[in-house]
Amino acid sequence: MIVFDEVRKSYQVGGRDIPALRPTSMTIETGEVFGIVGHSGAGKSTLIRLINKLEPVSGGRILIEGEDITGYSAAELRAFRRKVGMIFQHFNLLSSKTVADNIAFPMKLAGIYSKTEIRERVEELLARVSLSDHANKYPSQLSGGQKQRVGIARALACRPTVLLCDEATSALDPQTTQSVLKLLADINKELGLTIVLITHEMDVVRRVCDRVAVMDAGRVVEMGPVSEVFLHP
Ligand code: ADP
Ligand code: ADP
Repeated sequence: MIVFDEVRKSYQVGGRDIPALRPTSMTIETGEVFGIVGHSGAGKSTLIRLINKLEPVSGGRILIEGEDITGYSAAELRAFRRKVGMIFQHFNLLSSKTVADNIAFPMKLAGIYSKTEIRERVEELLARVSLSDHANKYPSQLSGGQKQRVGIARALACRPTVLLCDEATSALDPQTTQSVLKLLADINKELGLTIVLITHEMDVVRRVCDRVAVMDAGRVVEMGPVSEVFLHP
């Protein structure tokens, strides 16, 4: 469960305070697929960057599985980072590393896994995302959908409990989008992983999300089951 308790965020730009997230309280349940929609600049990226602590909050608290993450020390933060995976619109793969090494990278950074553990985990993840035959290729040799499947495998490497997706299908064609969404839905069901996804594509929300929040100008203006939020007259 991810709890936002009166969380707010502003950025300092040239001595001015730019509010990106107005005080927000909400709960994302464990195991759900939670969508965030809204116009550009509404605060969607800010909201998920607060969940993985890429940005500090300006006020309030965020609790993940009952733990307040806002005051974490550097050491606590390192352990916490493994619990939250993230995938991106433009995949953010390392072009000089092979598919297998991209997936292994977060495990190596973590510094707590043996070579054997890493090799076995990478093999398991390659199979899960149907890329076992592409382990030694480089990102430039892959299609967009394959690159995002590498991104998903890398995000899962350290067995996170939360997966954050920032416009993860926006750079993909409709057919590839369907297959990536199917993979995310399968992962959600099989691993019980909580997925928080930002998208501007309503079809994505309808296909995979349990609940959705609509953001506007730094506020969550509507939140609820997808059928209720989008079938209102
Ligand atoms: P969205 O993801 O919905 O497009 P963002 O969370 O990126 O919205 O942005 C929300 C607001 O915060 C916008 O006004 C944006 O310009 C501002 N903002 C976002 N990131 C920064 C930053 N690093 N520095 C200053 N302002 C930022
Ligand atoms: P190092 O950088 O330590 O020399 P390697 O470059 O041999 O290690 O491999 C990087 C990591 O990715 C290793 O932990 C290895 O187990 C894993 N790995 C590399 N290639 C594959 C593959 N084809 N299948 C599964 N795991 C692989």
